[in-house]
Amino acid sequence: MRPKPDNHISLSFPSLSSNESFARMAVACFAAQRNPTLEELEDVKTAVSEAVTNCIVHAYPDTVGPIQLTARLYDNALVLVVKDHGAGISDIAQAMEPLFTTGGKDRSGMGFTIMESFMDSLQVRSAPGRGTTVTMRKQFHSSPDNEALQ
Ligand code: ATP
Ligand code: MG
Repeated sequence: MRPKPDNHISLSFPSLSSNESFARMAVACFAAQRNPTLEELEDVKTAVSEAVTNCIVHAYPDTVGPIQLTARLYDNALVLVVKDHGAGISDIAQAMEPLFTTGGKDRSGMGFTIMESFMDSLQVRSAPGRGTTVTMRKQFHSSPDNEALQ
């Protein structure tokens, strides 16, 4: 099989909750060209949701700020970068622990854990007062059935 050409998209949008579903659907539509299974696509949509919701809720708690999302396809792997310029995280290891939240009773502290389990890799970079960048990767294992749909 010949390698597929790389492809990428960049999106910029304000941290309005209405943009969470937009980002999720936009990435799913973009990724669909590489024959992911429905389960893989659902995993990606969930991870995008969690990352974008974190920007909306934690990075810009009292304001609306910019979110940048890039999606890259390398052959059959998807790499997502979700970036904000908001509050930042002072202790990344602690923030990534299951059930840790600064969001009070409204949040369950499971977002990073979900991203980690639904994607093949997760990397978080952050600086307090400067913002946060979340990078995730997902390998698609397209089936011959899916290939036939192309
Ligand atoms: P849940 O995702 O289950 O609703 P949560 O958002 O608190 O709850 P995580 O997504 O795992 O859980 O995030 C853990 C913590 O990391 C958050 O409570 C917050 O303190 C911090 N955090 C995560 N993303 C950001 C971000 N983009 N900017 C600032 N802080 C963040
Ligand atoms: Mg969260």
